Amino acid sequence: MSPPFLPLPFGVFSVGAERPRVGVAVGDRVLDLASALGDPVFDHPSLNPFLARGPAAWTETRATLLHALRGGGPGTEGRMEPYLIPRERVRLHLPIEVADFVDFFSSIEHATNAGRILRPGEEPLKPNWRHLPVGYHGRAGTVVVDGTRIRRPRGQYRAGASGALCYAPTARLDIEVELGFVVGAGSALGSAVTVDEFEQHVFGAVLLLDWSARDIQAWEYVPLGPFLGKSFATTISPWVIPLESLAAAKIEPAPQDPPPLPHLTGTTPFSYDITLELRLNDHLVSTPSFASMYWTPAQQLAHMTSNGASLRTGDLYGTGTISAWEASGYGSFMELTWNGERPLELPGGDQRGFLQDHDVVSLSATAPAPGGGRIAFGQVSGRVLPASDEPTTPNERLR
Ligand code: CA
Repeated sequence: MSPPFLPLPFGVFSVGAERPRVGVAVGDRVLDLASALGDPVFDHPSLNPFLARGPAAWTETRATLLHALRGGGPGTEGRMEPYLIPRERVRLHLPIEVADFVDFFSSIEHATNAGRILRPGEEPLKPNWRHLPVGYHGRAGTVVVDGTRIRRPRGQYRAGASGALCYAPTARLDIEVELGFVVGAGSALGSAVTVDEFEQHVFGAVLLLDWSARDIQAWEYVPLGPFLGKSFATTISPWVIPLESLAAAKIEPAPQDPPPLPHLTGTTPFSYDITLELRLNDHLVSTPSFASMYWTPAQQLAHMTSNGASLRTGDLYGTGTISAWEASGYGSFMELTWNGERPLELPGGDQRGFLQDHDVVSLSATAPAPGGGRIAFGQVSGRVLPASDEPTTPNERLR
């Protein structure tokens, strides 16, 4: 029997008062890489120094770890044991120092649903949508890790039935279900990264919750796009799943009509078969699938650099809301409640339009593993705190 597949997700952990450093998850334990491999690149509070070494080093490290964890020759079984720490003893941190953050809008289901909700009677997709992956630059400094509490933001919007302009806590707090891709190897300013070079630059994937204040967003976004309705927080999962672990999850991408221009076309296009689960206060509310995403992560990366903009280690890009034509796969509460018009019925008789204070949103995902079974992405979650004039303590955590 072959040994179970080890996806070896990378993260940053600490034990007690010790300083945060890089580890990989091995079952229900965390391998302390700096100690296990004796390499100071892992003795850092982010993955960035390791990611900057590039794809050959990522592959070599993975091979070294698999060899060591499976017993590399007679008498070596268990030599990693001293460096494996039970998960319940560690605290997980933001895994990367986020350089730039970009968010896309690449699900045709979500873009169509949003168009129908926000601009009823009009063509839901704008003329550019099928020709390029629409995106915007977000705020890297407010990307936080799983468990960070999210203070309900204040902002300017037109309120309720009266339409009076106000500056107040958002009444339409939402999330968007997304994946995030982490750039490891940068690129030179002035050069474009092709679709086929995706795996030479991107190290891995995380789960991503794009917190969104729909009332603030609706008022501010014309004509320059999302700004304060999005920039108050974006939450990512603590474990980065290396692309090398997702080989068995690769699939043919969704068809594109019309065919994109040559600079957005690869020789062997692929996407990923990843199934997500969105929960509100522990109740499963939808199961979006990444498989139907219109634009692939490789096309997003190529588009992002097609003007010569450089990539840096630690760049993070969100795929955009992952959604579906059916409500069972909607990736936002705006869709799940049709802009609050059709409240969700929750067990116990609760109803929800948009998020209420103290709600907990969580997202998990799985993908096919080589040899059968599923790879788990772990979890990303956040609790909504009431709006307050008191500053939020940095890194205030759920647990
Ligand atoms: Ca988004």
